Amino acid sequence: TSSNNFVRPVYYDAKKFEDKVAIQDDIGRHTFSDIYQKATTLSKNISSALNQKTGERVLFLCPNDVSYVITLWAIWMSGQIAVPLSPLHPDSLLLYYTNDTNSALIVSSSNFQPQMEHLATASKVPLYVLPQTITEPSKLKSNVEINEDIIPNTNEAMILYTSGTTGSPKGVVLTHKNLRVQVETLTSAWKWTSNDVILHTLPLHHVHGTINALFCPLYVGATTIMLPKFNPTKIWNYFLQNKEKITVFMAVPTIYSKLIDEYENNIKNKQKDVRKVLENDVRLMVSGSAPLPAPVHTKWFELSGHKLLERYGMTEIGMCLSNLYDSDRSPGFVGVPLPSVSVALADQNDGTVILQCSNQNGSLVYEKNGSGDVTGELLVKGDSVFKEYFGKPEATRKEFINGWFKTGDLAQFVEKDQKFRILGRKSVDIIKSGGYKISALQIETLLLEHERIKECAVLGVPDDVYGERVGVIVVPQTGGGSEFDLEGLRGWAGGKMPRYWVPSVLRVVEEIPKNAMGKVNKKELIKVFFD
Ligand code: ATP
Ligand code: MG
Repeated sequence: TSSNNFVRPVYYDAKKFEDKVAIQDDIGRHTFSDIYQKATTLSKNISSALNQKTGERVLFLCPNDVSYVITLWAIWMSGQIAVPLSPLHPDSLLLYYTNDTNSALIVSSSNFQPQMEHLATASKVPLYVLPQTITEPSKLKSNVEINEDIIPNTNEAMILYTSGTTGSPKGVVLTHKNLRVQVETLTSAWKWTSNDVILHTLPLHHVHGTINALFCPLYVGATTIMLPKFNPTKIWNYFLQNKEKITVFMAVPTIYSKLIDEYENNIKNKQKDVRKVLENDVRLMVSGSAPLPAPVHTKWFELSGHKLLERYGMTEIGMCLSNLYDSDRSPGFVGVPLPSVSVALADQNDGTVILQCSNQNGSLVYEKNGSGDVTGELLVKGDSVFKEYFGKPEATRKEFINGWFKTGDLAQFVEKDQKFRILGRKSVDIIKSGGYKISALQIETLLLEHERIKECAVLGVPDDVYGERVGVIVVPQTGGGSEFDLEGLRGWAGGKMPRYWVPSVLRVVEEIPKNAMGKVNKKELIKVFFD
C-alpha cells in the first residue's frame, strides 16, 4: 500500500494496550482504547475543518491532561503537522508561532477559548474548540479497529520551538521517523516497560516534556500521571503518600532544587522514611535541559538514594548523550552517545574534526589522535536529527557541516572517565577574556562549593580592556549572616581556581530569572544586571 513509504507514527503501536491506563489526570483514569477512539473521532473533524487536505500545520493548546494526547494523536491521524502551544506563552509569542508556521487551524481546549478566540481573530486562522466532554473518561468497547489507511501520508510530525535561550525561538521540524527513533532509543536505553508509572510535571511544548516524558511511556504502554502544573507539595505527596507507586521521574535541575527546598522545609521533620520509600518504589530519576549543579546531584542522592541520570539533548537532535542506566553516575558528566547518534568534536579555532565516536554493534568506537582529553564543539549525526527549521532553508543549512549538525555547545571528552561533559554554549558560556577562553560552567561548578552560595550564573561582562571580564550573579543561601562581598569571594575563589577565572564583578540577587524550561538567558542577564 501507499502507506509503506511512510513511517508508522509512535501512536500507532499504542492501540495494543487497550484497557491499560495510559493517562491519569485530575479528571480521571483514561485507557489507551478510550484515547485512541476519541482521537479517531476528532481526527475526522479536523480533516473536515481542513477540507480533507493533509500536511497542514495545526496549532493546539491544551492543559496538561488527557486532552493533549487525544488532540495530538488526532492531528497526526488526520495527516497534519502538530504545533503544541503553551499556556505559559504570552499572546505576542502565540501570534508569532501562528504566523511563523503558516498554520491552517487552531485547536483549543475549552479552558483557553477566550484567549484562543483572540489569537484566531488576530491571525485570521480558524479555531476549533474541543468539546468539554473530551476529558471525561468513557468506558468504550475495546478492540478498536485500526485501518492501515490511518498511517498518514505526511512525514513531518511536529514543529517544536526551541526554548529561546539565545534568541528568538526556532521552529524545529521533526519527522515521524525522528520521533520513532528517539522513542525507541530512549525506551530501550532507560529500560521502560509497561509496568512503569511516570509522574509528569513538565511543559508539553518541548522535547523533555513530550518525547522523553510522554511519548516514551505511551509507546511502551506505561501509565503517565499528569499534574496540571509543577507543585512541589503535590509531587512529594505522590512520592510518599499516594497509592500509586511512581517508578520514573524526569525534571529540569530547578525542579530538583525546589523539591530539595520543600523537603528541607516541610518533609524532613514529618516523615522519616523518605529515602526508603523512594529507593523501593522509584527506579529512575532523570535530569536534563540545563546543566545539573553538583550540589543538587549530591543533595538529591542523600535524601532519595538516587543518583540522577543526567542526559544532554536539544530540540533539533533529541537526546544525544546520556549516562548509562546500569553504571555509576557522577556529577558533571552527561555520559556517552546514545545508540541512535554519532558524535564528533570540532576544533574551536579551525573547525576540524578532532574526535569521532559512534556506536557500532552495541559498542562505542572512538577515533582520535593520541591520548588525553579532547575539547571542541559538539557535532551530531543520526536519524534523530531534525529535518529543518520551518521555512528557513538558509538558517538550516548554516547549522550543518559535512552532514554534521553543529550544536553550538562546547563539550569535552574526558579520557579517564571515557565520558563527555558539557562546557556550555559557545555563544554565551565561553567567556573570552584577555586571550583566554573560559568555561562559565566550570567556574559555576567551583563557586557552588562555597557554603554561602545557593545558586549562581557566571557571565562574560563586556570590557574595553579584556574583551570580557568574568562576572557572577549570586543567590546566597538563606539565613546567611554577614553581607556577601566581592573581596571575600575573590579571596576564597583564588584558592580554588586559576587567577583569570576569579570573578571580578559581582551582583547579589534573591532569584536568578529562568524560562519555562528552567534555563538561564545569559544575554538577558547581562543586559539586566551589568549594563
Ligand atoms: P535556543 O536554541 O532558542 O537559544 P535552547 O538552545 O535553550 O534555546 P533547547 O533546544 O530547549 O533550546 O535546549 C538545548 C540546549 O540546552 C542545548 O544546546 C544545551 O545548551 C542545553 N542543555 C540541555 N541539556 C543539558 C545538560 N544536561 N547540560 C548542559 N546543557 C544542557
Ligand atoms: Mg538552541
